Amino acid sequence: MNTDAPWPDLDESESRELKIQTKLHQWVIHGLGRRLDDLLDLVADPAFAGMTRAVHARTLLEGPTGTLPWEPTNGRRSPAHVRRRADLRTTRAERQIVKEACGVFGVYAPGRPASHLTFDGLYALQHRGQESAGMAVSDGRTITVVKNMGLVTRVFDERTLSGLTGHIAMGHTRYSTHGASDWHAAQPVYRPAGGAGFALGHNGNLTNTPELARRCGMLPGMAPTDSDIVAELLASALDAGEEVSGDVPAGTLPVGTSSPGTLTSALRQVLPGVQGAYSLVLVDSQRLYGARDSHGFRPLCLGRLGTAERAEGWVLASESPALDVVGATYVRELDPGELVTIDGPGEDDVHSELLFHPADVDPRLCIFELVYFARPDSRLYGREVHGARRRMGELLAEQAPADAELVMGVPDSGVPAAEGFSRRSGIPYGQGLVKNRYIGRTFIDPGPDARRDAVRRKLNPLRENIAGKRLVVVDDSIVRGTTTRAIVGMLREAGATEVHLRISSPPFRWPCFYGIDTPTRSELLAASLTLGEIEGYLGVDSLAYIGLEELKAAIGAGRAGWCDACLTGRYPTPVPVDLASGGLGAAGAEGGGAGDVPAHGVREQPLLQGALPGV
Ligand code: SF4
Repeated sequence: MNTDAPWPDLDESESRELKIQTKLHQWVIHGLGRRLDDLLDLVADPAFAGMTRAVHARTLLEGPTGTLPWEPTNGRRSPAHVRRRADLRTTRAERQIVKEACGVFGVYAPGRPASHLTFDGLYALQHRGQESAGMAVSDGRTITVVKNMGLVTRVFDERTLSGLTGHIAMGHTRYSTHGASDWHAAQPVYRPAGGAGFALGHNGNLTNTPELARRCGMLPGMAPTDSDIVAELLASALDAGEEVSGDVPAGTLPVGTSSPGTLTSALRQVLPGVQGAYSLVLVDSQRLYGARDSHGFRPLCLGRLGTAERAEGWVLASESPALDVVGATYVRELDPGELVTIDGPGEDDVHSELLFHPADVDPRLCIFELVYFARPDSRLYGREVHGARRRMGELLAEQAPADAELVMGVPDSGVPAAEGFSRRSGIPYGQGLVKNRYIGRTFIDPGPDARRDAVRRKLNPLRENIAGKRLVVVDDSIVRGTTTRAIVGMLREAGATEVHLRISSPPFRWPCFYGIDTPTRSELLAASLTLGEIEGYLGVDSLAYIGLEELKAAIGAGRAGWCDACLTGRYPTPVPVDLASGGLGAAGAEGGGAGDVPAHGVREQPLLQGALPGV
């Protein structure tokens, strides 16, 4: 291939290296890289080999395992492509329950192996996403990125980690709620802008994606994910090189004084225009960054390595157990709308600022983090999640008592609430289901029988505990109901005489647009059925959900702000579908653009009014 042949948008005076880099960037980022032979010629070019970011570029091109991410141009499917399609089918089939979005982690630790710390942190966050994992590591000059499909332990081994030298790192573990489930969409997202470039990891979904894509000149469908769009906007701001003063957003937060650096400036420029949910962790060659949207939908906390007297560094993580596992001390949650820039290990090296006007900051942590998503040993709003779930069960027992002989929880997140129900009701607690903790992906078709089989692979009843008994079964939520129905059937087959189902969240009636993978509204069981109809469908003797006020009381975080849109239909931001149309399309579909729905509340459809009374 002649690499001097047409290079649109590039000045003749640009260096050969920059031309190649830009072309590769266009192919990789914008999905134009279908010409395999051209790409192979490109990496063979001596100029490419001399590039300072050759390792990164080769990773982009080949993947860390050497698997080319493009399918061959001769029309035949490569084995890797077939595998990816199978993975995608499996993923869709497994989406019978609400799934977590992503986990992010970052570390600044001079003298410590940042890649190993990041591995441990991601491992602790694996429950937030199992589709892909990746990390970006900087040694102060060069950023190296490795990412691939699969669990953290599949993507990284000792050999990979020992090659990732540096003291600044960020990592990401992904469950796709938006965009494809493939290597291109895995994170971190890297952009070669501003010196050594930067890498970004994102937890959450954006709600004004079409507008942002237009702003950075992308055609619809060009960006693999909304995170890529944020990265493009940041790269453009970096390339434009305009410094934005940190004095503009009012309300400097407790830690730190100022925030030097051009990526800080780019974040100041870009993030106030980004709507929806984002907890971001970024690195450039010199610094670690963390940022939350103005509602703080997704969690992000700060921890300290070492002590105040003997500072060893800083850690950012989606959840506090990822701090514990690397020996960091929990300091605090980042505030909604906050940006922290970390450029050293000491107290004075954490620079904090508010990216929004204080009047625009409206804390709305996802209430389902407390109900289901977060680990039970996580701290959110200053509360340990396990205790909150136990209190949910206690209040549920007061609100909806049942005459039964055994209380059992659906593993894992239903168990603490079952303990609370038992304690408050006086009905003995016992195990009724055993979970197979080693189950990986199951290759199934998404039919009802296959779903039942998937539940059987995952859960097995303890027959001696169940047979001949009247059960209270406590679970965290019902989404489509297919999994719950299969569990109830399994318990009855095992000899349960009665099944009284208690749910530690109110009915899930609306899709989530903020980073949780939910079905469309028409597939949500509680969106169109009455309480009695749901009981009949599930085959239970009685069903009750905790009330919203009881749920908030159980969490006990005072006047803390919550997002409860999937329970109430009151979305804190405009969402990008016409909810009033009745179709409620695909969650995350790019319909009429932001602003179709009022920010606080949607019109209730007639069929919903009066459904599920008392919940
Ligand atoms: S809509 Fe529901 S799942 Fe989504 S962020 Fe809000 S509370 Fe969480």
